[in-house]
Amino acid sequence: MRLKDQVALVTGGSRGIGRGIVKALAAEGAKVAFVYRGSKEAADSLASELTQASSVVQALQCDVTNAEEVQRSVEIVEKTLGAINILVNNAGIIHDDLFIRLEPKDWESVLQTNLGGTFNFTKAVAYSMMRQRKGRIINISSVAAEHTNPGQTNYAASKGAINSFTRALAVELASRGVTVNAIAPGFVETEMTEAVRNKAGDIIKKMIPMRRLGQADDIAKAAVFLASDDASYITGQVLIVDGGISLGAAPV
Ligand code: NDP
Repeated sequence: MRLKDQVALVTGGSRGIGRGIVKALAAEGAKVAFVYRGSKEAADSLASELTQASSVVQALQCDVTNAEEVQRSVEIVEKTLGAINILVNNAGIIHDDLFIRLEPKDWESVLQTNLGGTFNFTKAVAYSMMRQRKGRIINISSVAAEHTNPGQTNYAASKGAINSFTRALAVELASRGVTVNAIAPGFVETEMTEAVRNKAGDIIKKMIPMRRLGQADDIAKAAVFLASDDASYITGQVLIVDGGISLGAAPV
């Protein structure tokens, strides 16, 4: 078990990629807290599944855009599980539309959730990690930061900013034993991509050199690696996990 007795907090752990990360961290022996916004049923079922498998897990309702709720959640987790040494900023949303039609509220909600949520949780745990001289911050970015599609100005801006934030914070925290990295998934089979998958069908698979969509587990394995001692000399990096889609090869 690579993460025995570590305390991890995952944002957006009720569904999709975050759910996969919660399971993978717990399977490696970490005590895992996760927050979700509205999916209580999914969160409760994940918590009871993991508890039955003898993992230590805690689910909390918390909107990542609300700094006070975030601070309160971190305090609860610290009290029940101990000081947090792994933070995975995964919670994210999309509101795709061509820029000309994009509403200010869709710009703001995407930036506030994806980037603001990352700021709020990092702010709430960074000082404690520095004092422990031990910490792993893992931000879930996207290949869309660099290889974007029409209709994603808000999303691409949020993920590009996460990459820059990752590098800048890594420089500040490196000497305190805290690493900061990002994972940039490609096209992963979750509810977030359901509408596009239904519309585009097999075209997406043809664009991926590995000829399959990513699964939450593919991203979770990278998160476990970055959280583990095996990655102790890696910081400020964006690890692309995308089956090769960002290589830009012609679809076949
Ligand atoms: P899903 O839509 O499947 O799940 C999103 C998760 O984030 C849910 O658990 C949701 O909780 C939570 N969440 C959303 N907003 C908030 C909020 N304000 N406060 C707390 N929790 C919130 O998305 P994915 O699993 O697909 O995406 C996860 C991350 O991976 C995102 O950052 C996304 O940008 C990134 N990503 C995804 C890709 C993909 O192909 N799927 C590709 C590249 C990056 P609830 O349901 O309770 O609201």
